[in-house]
Amino acid sequence: MKAAIYPGSFDPVTFGHLDIIKRAAQIFDELTVSVLNNKTKTPLFSVEERVKMLEEATRDLPNVRIESFSGLLIDYARDKNIHVAIRGLRAFTDFEYELQIAQTNRKFSGGDLDTMFLTTSLEYAYLSSSTVKEVASFNGDISQCVPEFVGKLIYQKYGYDR
Ligand code: ADP
Repeated sequence: MKAAIYPGSFDPVTFGHLDIIKRAAQIFDELTVSVLNNKTKTPLFSVEERVKMLEEATRDLPNVRIESFSGLLIDYARDKNIHVAIRGLRAFTDFEYELQIAQTNRKFSGGDLDTMFLTTSLEYAYLSSSTVKEVASFNGDISQCVPEFVGKLIYQKYGYDR
């Protein structure tokens, strides 16, 4: 059985992430989307909230499971006996950062963890969780960026009732 992990902050999940999830779920028998509990970032949503949103957004994808982890991805992947990490690429700026992480993970895992990149669908190339949060913080329209129920939760965080 071919399995992969798609790790990320997902703070919150966007249509860009969901596009990568759907496509990876078609390539692999089982996809674990895992929310990274990153102590160095101050997230808008707690890990539990992010897991819940991802569960709801992927409920029609039977081979996708949602988890969370903290610590090193290579340790987490080894524990789960998974050898492929999925990452999405939007622009050249993503590439430089992602290449370094992918090579570090491969080296530090002794070749046990490879990274597979899926390039963004063009309609989501501009989309990032940070942009969505910035627009929502000014009560802007984010309906093209995230599922409706996620949008509601984001506006709530910023004190808007819409
Ligand atoms: P990070 O894990 O770097 O904190 P995110 O949680 O926002 O960032 O993203 C997780 C992964 O999804 C990363 O590989 C990122 O490049 C990818 N990604 C984010 N937004 C998009 C998008 N619009 N299209 C394709 N990939 C994306």
